[in-house]
Amino acid sequence: MLVERLQITHVSTGGLFRQAIEEGTPAGTEVREYVESGRLVPDHLVTQLVEGLVAGQQGRGICFDGFPRTLAQAEALDQVLTGHSASVHMVLALDLPDEVALSRLMSRGRDDDDYATARYRLEVYQATTAPLIRYYKERGLLARVDGNSDIDTVAQRIDEALQAVAA
Ligand code: AMP
Repeated sequence: MLVERLQITHVSTGGLFRQAIEEGTPAGTEVREYVESGRLVPDHLVTQLVEGLVAGQQGRGICFDGFPRTLAQAEALDQVLTGHSASVHMVLALDLPDEVALSRLMSRGRDDDDYATARYRLEVYQATTAPLIRYYKERGLLARVDGNSDIDTVAQRIDEALQAVAA
């Protein structure tokens, strides 16, 4: 909904990894064990992927989904964007109680959504990705949204939060 309204490109690093695995490309083979076990793909592989995508965008806006997930990725993103005279405009953090997140994942049914892997992904999030909230907050880029409602309500909250950050 967001990328349609803003007319920007949606980039899901996880989606791209799943596609590469399905197509059996060398990159897919390299990331497979990480994605299937819920561990993070090593930073240099993620950064390489994103570098190529940014270069191919030629100035069009991008909505990254599931990226960056580590401090090193956030720093690499800043560097890549600077090289293209661009920058991060805003960062959206959707807050959701673990139990609600798990029940949504269980009803979605992706290959890496078995209960133990999903729980592990939440642990990785807390340990490695959550610190990014502070990184972006300090830079005045963070919009935090309560994601524990139906899609239309959350979409409305996201619009309001993004407008507040953009103001
Ligand atoms: P997602 O589709 O965002 O839930 O990602 C699925 C899986 O892909 C994750 O559990 C990781 O193994 C991998 N992945 C996706 N994005 C990243 C990222 N930015 N950094 C490291 N691993 C990632």
